[in-house]
Amino acid sequence: MNDILPDQTPVWQYLERTVGRVLSGYGYQEIRMPLLEQTHLFKRSIGEVTDIVEKEMYTFEDRNGESLTLRPEGTAGCVRAAEEHGLLFNQTQKLWYAGPMFRYERPQKGRYRQFHQIGVECFGMDGPDIDAELLIMLARLWRALGLMPHVRLEINSIGSAESRKAYREALVDYLSGFREELDEDSRRRLETNPLRILDSKSVDTQKLLDDAPSLEDFLDDDSRNHFAGLKARLDLAGIEYVVNPRLVRGLDYYGKTVFEWVTESLGAQGTVCAGGRYDGLVEQLGGKPTKGVGFAMGVERLILMLETLDLVPGTVGAGADIYVMGMGEAGEAAALKVSEDLRDALTERTIVSHCGAGSFKSQMKKADRSGARYALILGDNEVSSGTVSLKPLRTEEEQRSIPQDALAEELKTLLN
Ligand code: ATP
Ligand code: MG
Repeated sequence: MNDILPDQTPVWQYLERTVGRVLSGYGYQEIRMPLLEQTHLFKRSIGEVTDIVEKEMYTFEDRNGESLTLRPEGTAGCVRAAEEHGLLFNQTQKLWYAGPMFRYERPQKGRYRQFHQIGVECFGMDGPDIDAELLIMLARLWRALGLMPHVRLEINSIGSAESRKAYREALVDYLSGFREELDEDSRRRLETNPLRILDSKSVDTQKLLDDAPSLEDFLDDDSRNHFAGLKARLDLAGIEYVVNPRLVRGLDYYGKTVFEWVTESLGAQGTVCAGGRYDGLVEQLGGKPTKGVGFAMGVERLILMLETLDLVPGTVGAGADIYVMGMGEAGEAAALKVSEDLRDALTERTIVSHCGAGSFKSQMKKADRSGARYALILGDNEVSSGTVSLKPLRTEEEQRSIPQDALAEELKTLLN
C-alpha cells in the first residue's frame, strides 16, 4: 500500500482529469460506492474458485460478527448499488467510478495491495454497439494521453455459459492426457477453473495448448454474431485490434466479449485495462435479468507508463506562478491585500503567499523553490508609494516597480 506524495499527485490529477473529460464527453455519469461490502457479494459474483476470492481478499468480521471485505474490484459493488437504488428499472445506465481496490497479492512493480482503478459499467444494453463504444472511447483516451502507440487491443469472445461448459469438458478431456506436463497452477485449475489455463504464463503449457480444442469452435450463434458485430464496428471506427483466442478473464461473471489493452513498456505487468460483458451478473446477484458490460483500468500502471515514456506534459505540476512577499508589518498587511486582489483577478493562476516571516534572502530562496516566474515584494517603500516591486525569477530581467492598481493587468500579460 502506497502513500501518494505531493510530487506525485499532479500526475494523478492529470490522469483523472483527462479520463473524466473523455467519459463525460460520452455521457457517462459518476457513481461512488463504499470501499466495504458484505463478503458474500464478491463470492457470488467474482466466483468461489477464482484467485481473487480464494487468496486475495481482505476479509474480516465487524463487531456484529458480519463478514465484510475491502472491495477487490468495482463491478460487484456497482451492480449492488445500481440494483439497490432502482437504477436498473426500465432504463439503461452508463456509469463510471474511480478509487482504491484491495488485493492481498505479492507486491511488485505494477502490482500493489491497495491500487486504484477507474472503471465503467453499462447496464441494459445487449448489442455489440455498446461494447464497441467502450473500446472506441478508450482509444480516444489513449490518444489524449499519448499512449495509443504503446498499447495493443486484444479481444475475444468466450461465448455463452452453455458453450463454455461444453468447451470446458473438451479442454479438460484433452489436457487430462498431459496432466504431468502441466505447470502446477494449471494442474490445480484443471479441477477448479480450466479455462484459466488458457492464459497460463508457462511456455510448456502454452505449447500443449497449440493442439487443444479451440473455444471458437464451441461458440453459440448468438455469441458469434455479437462478436462479428463488434469487430465490424471497430473496423468502421478505425480501431486496430488483435483477436486472441486464448484471452479469458480471471473473474467468473464474464461471457461473450472480453478484452484487454496490453503494453510492452511495463515488463510483466502489461495489462493496463481489462473488461468484458457480464450479461448474467445482475440476475445472479438477485436482480431482474439485465445485460451488462464494462472495464477497469489500473491507474498505477497507466501512470507508470506516462512516466516511463515521458508523456507527462511539462505544465503538469509546474508549481506557483507568483510568489508574494511582505517585509515588515505594513508590508505584510499590503501583501495580504495584494495577494487576495490578484486571486480575484487571475483565477486560473497559482499565487503563493510567503508565510513565516524570515530575512529577505530566505524569502527569496523560497520564492525560487516555489517554481514561480515572478516574486512580488512589498516593504515600507512600496506601501508609501502605492507600488509593488516585481522581480522576474526565471530571466535576467531587472526588478521593477509597478503601481498596485496596474498590477493585475500587467501580470495577466506577463504570464501569457
Ligand atoms: P492481472 O492479470 O494483472 O493480475 P487482473 O486480471 O487481476 O490483472 P482485473 O481484475 O481485470 O485485473 O483489473 C483490471 C486492471 O486493474 C488490471 O488490468 C490492472 O491494470 C489493474 N490491476 C489489477 N490488479 C492490480 C494490482 N494488484 N496492482 C495494480 N494494478 C492492478
Ligand atoms: Mg490479478
